[in-house]
Amino acid sequence: MTAPAAEGIATRGFAVKAADAAFEPFEFQRRDVGPKDILIDIFYAGICHSDIHQARAEWEPMVPSLYPMVPGHEIVGRVVKVGSEVSKFKEGDIAGIGCFVDSCRQCGACHAGIEQYCIKGSAQTYNSTEMDRVTPTYGGYSKHYVVDESYALNVKAPDADLPGVAPLLCAGITTYSPLKRWGVGPGKKVAIAGLGGLGHMGVKLAVAMGADVTVLSTSPSKEDDAKKLGAHKFVNIRDDAARAAATGSFDFILDTISANHDYNTYLSLLCLNGVMVIVGVPTEPAPLNAFSLIGGNKVLAGSLIGGIPETQEMLDFCARHAITSDVELIKPDYIDTAYDRTVKADVRYRFVIDMKNA
Ligand code: NAP
Ligand code: ZN
Ligand code: ZN
Repeated sequence: MTAPAAEGIATRGFAVKAADAAFEPFEFQRRDVGPKDILIDIFYAGICHSDIHQARAEWEPMVPSLYPMVPGHEIVGRVVKVGSEVSKFKEGDIAGIGCFVDSCRQCGACHAGIEQYCIKGSAQTYNSTEMDRVTPTYGGYSKHYVVDESYALNVKAPDADLPGVAPLLCAGITTYSPLKRWGVGPGKKVAIAGLGGLGHMGVKLAVAMGADVTVLSTSPSKEDDAKKLGAHKFVNIRDDAARAAATGSFDFILDTISANHDYNTYLSLLCLNGVMVIVGVPTEPAPLNAFSLIGGNKVLAGSLIGGIPETQEMLDFCARHAITSDVELIKPDYIDTAYDRTVKADVRYRFVIDMKNA
């Protein structure tokens, strides 16, 4: 496959051209490096379940899938060229890119550094367009990215840790932001629902913040891992007795589940005034019983990734606490298999594509 010819920097990625297609090599152009841009040689790209939802068109019509699609929004690599006005990076630095690469820069959200909520709609790293609403964006399953320095992150980590840093750019910030916003810390009983890519980051971060952490999982085989990740307790959500014993016991639940599930079941585990934040995005709407909320004065909320300042804060927090993602490093020819395994919850705990050697 080849994108229509254009000016710019020739690069190579891996794309799907339809919802039911396999990944294949894809040659395309990145834009030339402008005064405020940096060119990144991509080393590692994490596989987020959002990549799967979009590559397989599972979020339509809410999020249309644009093909050919080069997914990937958990990106780390080396800066190999900087524009004349770049101040945050120099050649040789390690940089990261998360879920968006531009926004309007003028609205209240952009001024507040929560660009993911830009009222004009931010430019997503892939399956989207630049702010011109014309030029398609292609993601991190590729050799290079050209991005405005304001939308890239500084990464300070030894080279050996970089595969485990890549998933912080989405899984890390998506869990850090709501944990922080809702005051997770010492004395709080916190449950992480779903022990996948997001979930295992949620466990590590909530433990580092000092909370008492329980994993709510459908996979009893993950109990030992949950404890190794630092969780204090593990509840098999499909075990009626274990679930009943946990009723009313959590101040806060972070729901990272990718598949359709019953929110009412999880809400029943909150204590009085408890808060559940949804970050997982199943493909179907799910019924909500008002009684699940009103009886215990409970809050059900949502959260979308995090802005650039908070993403940098999260990376610095992770560096201080020696937190990285647990990864399985793969070659690009394994992406289709990795997708199938992720859907079966068979990943411990993030697939990361080695683009450095691809
Ligand atoms: P993932 O690695 O596949 O993890 C999802 C986990 O959900 C699985 O490991 C599994 O954990 C659990 N699960 C799967 N099927 C289930 C079911 N039927 N009932 C209950 N639990 C089930 O996915 P991810 O990359 O962490 O992403 C999770 C979700 O968050 C996706 O929908 C993704 O699109 C979304 N997301 C949202 C944001 C945001 O900004 N809000 C950002 C990134 C991703 P157990 O084996 O422990 O049950
Ligand atoms: Zn993601
Ligand atoms: Zn804006």
